[in-house]
Amino acid sequence: MKFVDLERQYQVLEPDIRRRIDAVMAHGRFIMGPEVGELEERLGEFCGVRHALGVANGTDAISLALMALGIGAGDAVFVPTFTFFATAEAVSLIGATPVFIDIDEATYNIDPAGVEAAIRAVADAGELTPRAIIAVNLFGLPANYTELAKVAARHSVYLVEDAAQSFGAALDGKRSCSFGDIATTSFFPAKPLGCFGDGGAVFTDDDELAARLRSLRVHGQGKHKYDNVLIGMNSRLDTIQAAILLAKLTVFESELDARQSNAEKLGARLGPGFAAPHIPQGYRSAWAQYSLRPATRDRETVLARFAADDIPTAIYYAQPLHLAGAYRSLGYGAGDFPVAERVAADIFSVPVHPYLDDRDLDRIAGALGS
Ligand SMILES: *Cc1c(COP(=O)(O)O)cnc(C)c1O
Repeated sequence: MKFVDLERQYQVLEPDIRRRIDAVMAHGRFIMGPEVGELEERLGEFCGVRHALGVANGTDAISLALMALGIGAGDAVFVPTFTFFATAEAVSLIGATPVFIDIDEATYNIDPAGVEAAIRAVADAGELTPRAIIAVNLFGLPANYTELAKVAARHSVYLVEDAAQSFGAALDGKRSCSFGDIATTSFFPAKPLGCFGDGGAVFTDDDELAARLRSLRVHGQGKHKYDNVLIGMNSRLDTIQAAILLAKLTVFESELDARQSNAEKLGARLGPGFAAPHIPQGYRSAWAQYSLRPATRDRETVLARFAADDIPTAIYYAQPLHLAGAYRSLGYGAGDFPVAERVAADIFSVPVHPYLDDRDLDRIAGALGS
C-alpha cells in the first residue's frame, strides 16, 4: 500500500496522458503552449472563477498573489502557524513579514478571532501595516471564510486563499479557489490534483488583478516581450504539465468521490482511541490528508502499530512555523500558540488516496479500530 498511489492512477490514465504529451512534442510550444490556455479555462470553469492562471508552483503562486496586491516590505501578512512552510516563506520572499496565528482545534484551520486580535495588535504597535490574511485549507478542508471575510472587511485587509491542499473542496456549494480576493493552488504530484513535476495556479474574479498576474509571471512583461513594466518572476506552468493536468482532470471528480467515500469508511470504523476528522456543516473536504490524533496513547506507539502492519503513515506537521529555525529572528517562542503546539505533538495521517481498494481500507481500519 502506498501513502499516495500515482502508479495506480497512471495505469488508469496512461493512454490519455501519453496522447496529450505526444501532442505537445508534436507542436513543440513548451512554454505557454495551447494546453496552458485550455487548462486555465477548465480550471476557471471548475472553480467558478473568472480568471485562472497557470504558474510554476504553489509557492510562487502565493508570492505572485501578494505582489499583485501590492504587498511588500513593511507589510504584515497574517498566516496560520500550522501549515506547510511555503505559506509563510512566500510572504518573506516578497519582503513582507509573516505574523503567525493559532489554529482552531476542531478544524486545524486559522482561528478568525486570533487573526482579528493580531491585526489590532500589529496596528497598535505601528511598526508594520496589516495588509492581508492568508487562510490555508489544511488537509483539504476550507477555512472559515464566512468569518474571515468579515474580519478582512472590518480591517480593510485582503483575504488570500492558500488552496494548495484543497483543489476540489467546497463550502456552501462554492468551490475552493473562489474564496477571498485571490486564491492559489499547487499541482505538486502528491496534492489532490497533481502533475508530474512542479506546477501551480492563481485564481481571481478581479480583471485588474488578473492582468497584473499575467504580467508578473513573465518578468513583468508589458505590451510586448521586451517591454518590462513591473519587477516580476519567471513563473509559468510548463505546457507538458498542463497537458498532463488536462488528462487528470477527466477523472478528478470521480477521484474526489473516492476520497470522500474512503474517508467515510475509515470514519465509520474508528475505535475509541481516535476521533474522526471534523467536517463542519456545509463543508466538503478534498481529503488531501486523513489526519487523526490519538485520544490516549502517544503518537510513537500508534505509528509503531501501523509500521508493524506495513501501513504507510506521515506526520503533517511536527513543528509549527513560529518555532522554525528560519523564523527565529521574529522572536516567537514555545507556548505562544498552544493549540498548534498540542496538535503538532500528536497528529498523524493515514492513506486516503482514491486508488485504495477494499483490502487496503480493511487493513487501515483494522489498525485504527484497535
Ligand atoms: C504544497 C503547499 C504549498 C506549496 O506548493 P508547491 O507547489 O510545493 O510550491 C503551499 N501551501 C501549502 C499549504 C501547501 O501544502
